[in-house]
Amino acid sequence: MSTHPFRSLLLTTLVAIAVATPLQADPQAAAAAPKPAAPAAQQVTLPQVVVLATGGTIAGAAASDVQAGYTSGQVGVDQLLAAVPQAKKLATLKGEQISNIGSQDMNDEVWLKLAKRINQLTAMPEVAGIVITHGTDTIEETAYFLNLVVKSKKPVVLTAAMRPSTALSADGPLNFYNAVAVAANKEAAGRGVLVVINDWIHGASSLTKASTTAVQTFLSPVWGLIGTVAYGECEFFRGPVGRNTANSEFSLDGVTSLPRVDIIMAYENMDGALIDAAAASGAKGIVIAGVGNGNMTAAALEALAAQAKKGIVCVRASRVATGRVGRNVEVDDDKLGLVASLGLNPQKSRVLLRLGLTKTNDVKQIQRFFDEY
Ligand code: ASP
Repeated sequence: MSTHPFRSLLLTTLVAIAVATPLQADPQAAAAAPKPAAPAAQQVTLPQVVVLATGGTIAGAAASDVQAGYTSGQVGVDQLLAAVPQAKKLATLKGEQISNIGSQDMNDEVWLKLAKRINQLTAMPEVAGIVITHGTDTIEETAYFLNLVVKSKKPVVLTAAMRPSTALSADGPLNFYNAVAVAANKEAAGRGVLVVINDWIHGASSLTKASTTAVQTFLSPVWGLIGTVAYGECEFFRGPVGRNTANSEFSLDGVTSLPRVDIIMAYENMDGALIDAAAASGAKGIVIAGVGNGNMTAAALEALAAQAKKGIVCVRASRVATGRVGRNVEVDDDKLGLVASLGLNPQKSRVLLRLGLTKTNDVKQIQRFFDEY
């Protein structure tokens, strides 16, 4: 378990005071002797953490504290920082407003701006870590996107809230405090992009939103938690799964837009109409949220294979909450030219496929990305 930064600050100050009080044997000599200058207490510099605010319920407001209806992205970054003064004991905080939107409206423009700003900030030696405030709806996609394009091992930590800032028992302030504690903690470095919410530290590739309304909404099924954080006290269990951040081959250098990739859910009696519509809308890739192990009806599979033949990269993921989608199990991926998502859910498969398509549309290469990331 790591030492709480505030506790180490207190300890260092007490040690400095004890060292600064020498014993004097002769009281007269003591009166004559010039008073030794008290050594300055050892300077404790807090790590610098930059807070990038994007909106979400953590910055949401309602007319009443027990009202279900509210609007995301109402509170600015300065108000957010002012609401949690305790966090200033963990780190020197600087805030920047990247956007102020509900994360259902998250978009490529904000993603590119956010990622580029994080790469600038993490390259500065004085910056120890980054906290991003975000909505919960698409936080797993943003976290995974950043996990692939941020070029730093420094802690990059997203946080969010399920209840708006004006609600009874708002969860945002403690989530924010814990996120700052993780971003300021050297042990968080090199674990990929992290998401801190409700005392849990999730990895970007593993977390998923599992409840529409519960405060305990995020789970990391199968792979488990990266760690826990309780009132700033961190405990780390594991490293990241898959290549990420400093070890990622993806880069946004020169990238001004990302290719279109659509997700289509499979269902009983499915035909190929939505698959054909996605291709007609200009999709360069299609992710199927298949039934079971990435399966779909024969008609849908036929339509998908036809698009794959035309050069649209098609990935089979699953609408099931946990488990892998393996290659060539009930579908002959080799023969049909398809990609299996392996451990990634449909929404994260879409993120990886979009970045993969900035490099190649070769199916073997894209499958390698799914093997490695
Ligand atoms: N719709 C909100 C958002 O994602 C939900 C939340 O933040 O909890 O911005």
